Amino acid sequence: MVTIHKELLCSCSPYYTAALRGGFSESRKASLDADMSSNTLKAFATWLYTGSLPSKGTHVEGAHDRQCCLINLYIFADLTDFLALRRATMNQLAAANMSLCSYTLVLEIISHLPDTDPLWKQTLGSYVSHWTPDCDDYAPGCYLDAELEDGGRLLPGFMHEVLKEVALRTELNPPGCSCCSNPCTYHEHESEEEWKATCGKVKGSKLPESLL
Ligand SMILES: [Zn+2]
Ligand SMILES: [Zn+2]
Repeated sequence: MVTIHKELLCSCSPYYTAALRGGFSESRKASLDADMSSNTLKAFATWLYTGSLPSKGTHVEGAHDRQCCLINLYIFADLTDFLALRRATMNQLAAANMSLCSYTLVLEIISHLPDTDPLWKQTLGSYVSHWTPDCDDYAPGCYLDAELEDGGRLLPGFMHEVLKEVALRTELNPPGCSCCSNPCTYHEHESEEEWKATCGKVKGSKLPESLL
């Protein structure tokens, strides 16, 4: 069981300030808690108390589970308006050692987030830079298999976007691709000043291209 102090939650998230002051019904709060797996919740608690996410292998076995945990944490941070948590998870998701998301994880992302969301864009960018037909989990074109999703046609729509860009791609695994080398591209930085005051203070971080 993970216990998190209300004051700490409120200080980090406008969502929780509203929720804990009665802006949301109990049922909404209960379902939010239930949606998080214990690994995700532990990672969230670690981040709240220490300011950093658990290092590799602390709570989660295997690269896929870790990626899944980070994605769930990002989706949670989106729902609860935790910008700092979205940035912390993005630092790990948009890193060179992260492999291309499986279709199951892509579906998790695109079914929870709009196509304007930074993680949606980072996922699209990483597919455009790194996807090849060999990546298909089960069989060629398995992303067209309706069994991967209930009802909607989200994954074929996503792959249609990917393939349009892949058709124009000049290089597979381009060096310095922002999907793996500049998380600030996906940090929702408002301006160069805001970037300088936050990530700009961290050694090695790069101003997002959109602010150049
Ligand atoms: Zn990349
Ligand atoms: Zn940044």
